[in-house]
Amino acid sequence: MSPEEFRSHAHQLVDWMADYLGSVGEYPVKPNVKPGDIRKQLPAQPPVTAESFDAIFKDFKDIIVPGMTHWQHPQFFAYFPSGSSEASILGEMLATTLGAQCMIWLTSPAAEELEHRMMEWLRDATGLPSHFTGVIQDSSSSSTLVALLTAREWKSKYAINQSGFNGDERFRVYTSTQAHSSVDKDVRIAGLGIDNLVKVGTEKDFAMSPEELEAAIIRDKAQGFTPLCVVSTIGTTSSTAIDPISAIGDICARHECWHHIDASYAGSALLCPELRWMSKGVEKCDSFVFNPHKWMFTHFDCSAYFVKDKQALINTFSIMPEYLKTPEDKLVNNYRDWGIPLGRRFRALKLWFVIRSFGLEGMQQRLRDHIAYGQWVKQQVLSTPGFELMAPVPLNLVCFRIHPKGMEDEAALDEINAKLIQDLNASGKILLTQTKLDNKFVIRFVAGQTHATMETVKKGWELVREFAERSGGG
Ligand SMILES: *Cc1c(COP(=O)(O)O)cnc(C)c1O
Repeated sequence: MSPEEFRSHAHQLVDWMADYLGSVGEYPVKPNVKPGDIRKQLPAQPPVTAESFDAIFKDFKDIIVPGMTHWQHPQFFAYFPSGSSEASILGEMLATTLGAQCMIWLTSPAAEELEHRMMEWLRDATGLPSHFTGVIQDSSSSSTLVALLTAREWKSKYAINQSGFNGDERFRVYTSTQAHSSVDKDVRIAGLGIDNLVKVGTEKDFAMSPEELEAAIIRDKAQGFTPLCVVSTIGTTSSTAIDPISAIGDICARHECWHHIDASYAGSALLCPELRWMSKGVEKCDSFVFNPHKWMFTHFDCSAYFVKDKQALINTFSIMPEYLKTPEDKLVNNYRDWGIPLGRRFRALKLWFVIRSFGLEGMQQRLRDHIAYGQWVKQQVLSTPGFELMAPVPLNLVCFRIHPKGMEDEAALDEINAKLIQDLNASGKILLTQTKLDNKFVIRFVAGQTHATMETVKKGWELVREFAERSGGG
């Protein structure tokens, strides 16, 4: 493709992109397709000769777009949102155009230094302690794995990296029953064994019970286990429960245990000073992660990982083959030594674009609006007969179910709620997801998309009510 051809195709794409963003609400949120429907439209063999850009773009529009779930659709209230904004798209376009591999300072000095500065901006803007150091990882799952590996090496004095497990280690990791499944996965990958992941019970608000945590640690120590790490959560995936991280931090200090905080979703809310009650005591933790790619208007992937002791992180991950040595090694951050992959995308660029184009106040305003929408939905649930609120709503995730008068059988309630969500999602007009709380089927409604407005949220709630009435509940 010549530069002139590229220019012309790129203009075509940008026009499509602007049209898409303006009209995404007209698509079904979730496509009406069956498994295999897309694959069967794709030739079994790759083309032997070059195809025109027009043909490729046409197939994108005809085959791919109709098979997409539209995460930026105004009635997408499922999961947690996938961060997005125009500024972030533009930053990603430029990062892609530069095509740089940002593994060490020398391979892109500006990428390393911008990342360094962006992590300082985020640390200060979220009220994390000034002696914390940040690095961008691809995901929270990876960040938590990095935390567990660092804890493992710190606790074993870097012996496991050197000689492997000797068979005598009896490490224990603690998290709440409400923690994200990535903790389970990471414990397995880190070689700690899933049997050594202790799931601590929660209080009525689904936040970890510090008393139960400490009792479990004491019991384990008496049996010869070594407490290695506690993974606490600010904003659980099921219900945005906020673990008492200050009390957990004290327990970790007493038992010489690493404290990692998973604030994947809710961490963005710490941009608002009035919400920092959630992170009170954060200075005691050893590592902390949140995902700008969820609730900070920045595209996947962009996970902000912070550590108190950056040397422990680097000691765990650094490698120094001859071909990667550079004269500046002592003066710069070579981020390849701060996580698992060697190669790294230039993720700081989109973050810079987002933070500058919103400004701190712009981001705070968005987050406050989203929380107000969540509180509005909560009020609707509380004031509408036949609806039941299933968890506290500290932020903007509302957990509810329909509960028709007189229906007290839990299995029947699970069933009508499962049917309700299935009907809603099959309509293509809205997308919601479910969870279980206290073993009850619960519908989650998250009002956290970048362009959410009172109007899009009201429309979502109206759809829920309409379908609930039709299903005999609500
Ligand atoms: C979404 C989520 C994760 C996983 O995030 P990834 O970046 O997709 O790995 C982990 N923990 C919590 C609490 C989450 O909400």
